[in-house]
Amino acid sequence: MVYTDLYINGAWHKTDERFDVINPATEEVLASVASAGLSDADAALDAAEAAMAEWAARTPRQRSEVLRRAWELMTARLEEFAHLITLENGKARADAMGEATYAAEFFRWFAEEAVRADGLITHAPSSGARIIVQHKPAGLAVLITPWNYPAAMGTRKIAPALAAGCAVIIKPASETPLTMLALMPLLEEAGVPPGLVNVLPSRRTGALVDHMLHDPRVRVVSFTGSTGVGRTLLKGAADQVLKPAMELGGNAPVIVFEDADMDVAIEGTMLAKMRNLGEACTAANRIYVHEAIAPEFTRRLTAAMSALRVGDGTDPGVDVGPLVNASTRDKVAEFVADAVAKGATVECGGVVPDGKGYFYPPTVLSNVPEHADCVRDEIFGPVAALQTFSDQDDVIRRANDTEYGLVAYVFSGDMKRGLQVCERLDYGMVGLNRGLVSDPAAPFGGTKQSGLGREGGHEGMLEFMETQYISANW
Ligand code: NAP
Repeated sequence: MVYTDLYINGAWHKTDERFDVINPATEEVLASVASAGLSDADAALDAAEAAMAEWAARTPRQRSEVLRRAWELMTARLEEFAHLITLENGKARADAMGEATYAAEFFRWFAEEAVRADGLITHAPSSGARIIVQHKPAGLAVLITPWNYPAAMGTRKIAPALAAGCAVIIKPASETPLTMLALMPLLEEAGVPPGLVNVLPSRRTGALVDHMLHDPRVRVVSFTGSTGVGRTLLKGAADQVLKPAMELGGNAPVIVFEDADMDVAIEGTMLAKMRNLGEACTAANRIYVHEAIAPEFTRRLTAAMSALRVGDGTDPGVDVGPLVNASTRDKVAEFVADAVAKGATVECGGVVPDGKGYFYPPTVLSNVPEHADCVRDEIFGPVAALQTFSDQDDVIRRANDTEYGLVAYVFSGDMKRGLQVCERLDYGMVGLNRGLVSDPAAPFGGTKQSGLGREGGHEGMLEFMETQYISANW
């Protein structure tokens, strides 16, 4: 069953205005979805306010058990969610199963964190008073999510918010609202009370979100998406001094040293580049290979990329589905054309196929010049852009030369060297001899213009909590 209406206070609401969700593999309309307006936002805020009072008063154990049940239910229905993710986003079945599993894990992790909201009691060194520090639910949270992970970017926010005792209103991306809507009956079944989680797809995104950010009941805005929209939201959040969590864009460097294990480096680079067909903020964007191993690395990476099968992601034999829409596909093609015009060599791929669907083939570019657009901006597609280096200090400088700081990857057979390089990289996360860093148990997030705050780990729940300090004499 596909859910296509607004979800407010535990009930489905139709609207006069609707918009189409397109299957990127076929370009056919998948569903017509309700588009929320300002009065719907007000109804969701009223419902969330009422639900939060009761939810925040429950014991952490009670909240934890609802989240644990959500994990169990979602884990039992991974195939169903994966199929829906593939239909609306395009990603291949294996990527969609990976996402659904990762998305469900946030419920389990935050079920465990819900009962570990620790505090502190200590003596004030000078006055002798007691310093008591505790964490309280921060208040209503507005969550805004992107299309590249329709399930996981939502659960990564919903689970910690509920664990902390907050109520939420989610604005999913317009390309992919169906997965988040489909999660709502599951949350009901898990025991989430009406009004605690509300979903408002909308085509009037800017006005809708701005309206909610100016409601005095809202205290948190948690956003995952582009740095440009993140800046707009930070400005909107400033009026009410909201607590912001911003997971923004990336421009991940991969550094492959001459002492790297070649099998590990190829496997890790493939994962960092091709997980989610490159439509990930964590995707390898600039691949720096030591010149001594560059010919072999290029040959082996090209062979691995050429072996991937492109097609409709619902076909289990397909490795690479279509990109999410025409503009994303066209932008990838422009990056390749720009790099080639500036001197890059196409090792494989690089040609948009004929026919329906927003497909782009796995592509390897070598000799990519430093001034190519794909070195400065997120490619967000299946294009591996290779450069070479000979000097360690120089490659660290080049890797850090970006306004982004989400994730970097380092491959070296020497752990001492590898860790020393990791520490010099100005990134919130580094994969050392690994092409995957995402883990619900670890703090995900970036430095510089890649964002503010962390999701997952112990830190994730604190984004939805306020610290209260009581100075006490007894
Ligand atoms: P986007 O264009 O920034 O959109 C993200 C969300 O923001 C969507 O729900 C979108 O709604 C909404 N939005 C757009 N304009 C808005 C406005 N003026 N006010 C409030 N909300 C607004 O990003 P995207 O293209 O979906 O996703 C790709 C970007 O997300 C990439 O830059 C990627 O690096 C980043 N990302 C970051 C992380 C991370 O954890 N750091 C994870 C995944 C993705 P509509 O769909 O209705 O426009």
